[in-house]
Amino acid sequence: MPTLSVQVAAELWFLLPRPRRTGEVTAPAAPTDTLGHVVQSLGVPLTEVGQLRLDGRAVPPQTLVGDVTPGRRDSGPEAVLQVPDRPRPQPTSVWPPRFLLDVHLGSLARRLRLLGVDTGYRTEAADADLVRWAATESRVLLTRDRGLLARTALPEGALVRHDSPEDQLVDVLDRFAPPLAPWTRCGRCNGLLAPASHADVAARLEPGTRRSYQQFARCRGCGAVYWRGAHRRRLEAVVRRAEQVVAARQGGRGR
Ligand SMILES: [Zn+2]
Repeated sequence: MPTLSVQVAAELWFLLPRPRRTGEVTAPAAPTDTLGHVVQSLGVPLTEVGQLRLDGRAVPPQTLVGDVTPGRRDSGPEAVLQVPDRPRPQPTSVWPPRFLLDVHLGSLARRLRLLGVDTGYRTEAADADLVRWAATESRVLLTRDRGLLARTALPEGALVRHDSPEDQLVDVLDRFAPPLAPWTRCGRCNGLLAPASHADVAARLEPGTRRSYQQFARCRGCGAVYWRGAHRRRLEAVVRRAEQVVAARQGGRGR
């Protein structure tokens, strides 16, 4: 069986099994394996990698090991497979990008919606339903589940690489640099907000809110009413930080 020496970019080491987090891994590979399979079997989803290179030559992930390592024997020199991180900003099939979040990512979903990014999310959905939903609406599936990203029916996905919603948000914005439209989308249902007058919404408000605020917005989807409430300062800080992250990345995109 041929072996490949796989050089994994430092940004992706956290995906490798702990004893192998040195970036260079020797992987036995059957001639009928694809290079993509070899990479995934190390724990690195293909959604996370850029252009694979074998002995310096660009190769697609569907390449069969047997086709690129002819005549190599166990004792011979190993072919070197380079696995880079996905370049950023990452283009998406639809622009601006639409996302779909795995069921465990509710906090990230609310933050993306606050920023006006089109974000599908339900608290309950089977894996197969998520994949179908992502495919039907051309959404990039964001998940912490590497098995979900390996599903062949999934057109576009990305691994959410951090634990805290704050870090997750920065990573997603840095990766895709989506255009932002803060305060235009409903955090509950992803619907678009429209300005609403005090008279329009008064019946739905608590007396204190009715007295204290004059400017409102209402969701065209679910009817939820929004105003500049007590959390405004904290949310404004989230928006400012997000705009900085995207602006820094969009500089590289040249848009
Ligand atoms: Zn709504």
